[in-house]
Amino acid sequence: MLGDGKDTQKAIAAAKEAFKTFSRTSVEERIKILKNLKRAVEKRETELIDTMILEYGGTRQFCTASFQNMVGAFEHMIETLRYFEFERRAGHTLVQMTPIGVVGIITPWNSSNGFICSKFATAVAAGCTVVVKPSEMSALQTQLIIECFHEAGLPKGIVNVVNGLGNRVGSEIVNHPDIAKISFTGSTRTGKMIAKGAVETMKRVTLELGGKSPNIILDDADFKDAIPQAVYGAYMNSGQACIAPTRLLVPQSRLAEVNELAKEAARQVVVGNPASENTNVGPMVSERQYERVQSYIEVGIHEGADLLVGGMGKPEGLEKGNFVKATIFTNVRNDMRIAQEEIFGPVLSIISYENEEEAIAIANDTPYGLAAYVTSSDEKRALRVASQIEAGRVCVNGFKHDALAPFGGFKQSGIGREFGSFGLEEYLEPKSILI
Ligand code: NAD
Repeated sequence: MLGDGKDTQKAIAAAKEAFKTFSRTSVEERIKILKNLKRAVEKRETELIDTMILEYGGTRQFCTASFQNMVGAFEHMIETLRYFEFERRAGHTLVQMTPIGVVGIITPWNSSNGFICSKFATAVAAGCTVVVKPSEMSALQTQLIIECFHEAGLPKGIVNVVNGLGNRVGSEIVNHPDIAKISFTGSTRTGKMIAKGAVETMKRVTLELGGKSPNIILDDADFKDAIPQAVYGAYMNSGQACIAPTRLLVPQSRLAEVNELAKEAARQVVVGNPASENTNVGPMVSERQYERVQSYIEVGIHEGADLLVGGMGKPEGLEKGNFVKATIFTNVRNDMRIAQEEIFGPVLSIISYENEEEAIAIANDTPYGLAAYVTSSDEKRALRVASQIEAGRVCVNGFKHDALAPFGGFKQSGIGREFGSFGLEEYLEPKSILI
């Protein structure tokens, strides 16, 4: 059943009441709660992974990694709390880092529980209470994770969930004066609406939004290794990932070789039943998403990009689900829509560059700035390139995740940072006490 504005108000009232005592708990108490939460989540591993697969068609490989990040979210916040300074000195002044208040957590469907866990772990670490509004498409997995939180013996009112539509439950959270901060992950379009709405009550916002991440392969890289990795990376979560490296930037002089390697890698990609261990690409989350990806493939063809692999329609034998063919376009120009807009499906664009300078310029020629990737056999060179890329996270030589490092977007990929001490600070309000 969908919740409405009234349900949301009740949830906010419960969170506000609980904040009175929870905001005064000691760091030791909060570490204890985080440890209990971590254990409770770990106990339901199989159910949590299977529910994700069932509900949105995520592959077993991706959902298993996602589960590990869920557990990791609690682990990393425990670690962060061990060294975080809630009281500091600035000049002659005592600065107290105080919990911000009730936080509204609004999440997308892709890796929904991963986001709920990382945002909630940070809220607990800070001493904040929360109201969660998950995506309309992830109510089942949310139910399960909330059960885990209750099994951890969490005091009443700290976490409150309201399922429902964005323009009813979501906007109630955004407009309500008793919500101090919104932590949102989702599309740039919705993020802009939330930012506008939040201004009315001067809410703090953390916005984790879309991306169109470049993957620069420098000419000294091991292409036999880097190109297949690039193809598999672009198809992470069946291409439905904000950090997916969807623009593959390669030297013009090596384009023919890259095309061959990419074609060969795509041939190995298994599209099909997401529950199977060896499936790389499952179905799209919905028919609507399937149609959206199809329309982008059509756009790519009309724009004049060369279709290297895949294309429109469903893969043979998979006519019943929302399956998309693993698709690669080559000879893509960076001003084409398929290179500029987030497709959110298994569609990779190969773009060529003349030299390092041009590679960096192409990488930065996008309204987004979430993630980027650089591959080179010379680490110093890769670092030089990485430091010129406008993105919140740049991975050198492979796909990496560090939940203690700040995560967030430059430009239209968002505002603020999550994870570790950087993420924790966003749930705290500095208060100067001058004695
Ligand atoms: P979405 O923006 O459509 O929805 C996200 C959430 O916002 C949902 O819970 C939705 O109900 C809610 N919402 C919609 N309208 C609202 C409103 N007016 N007020 C308040 N809430 C509202 O996104 P989606 O399709 O669920 O997810 C895919 C998008 O999320 C992609 O753009 C992807 O790049 C992005 N994403 C970003 C990150 C990141 O960390 N930067 C991670 C994952 C996904």
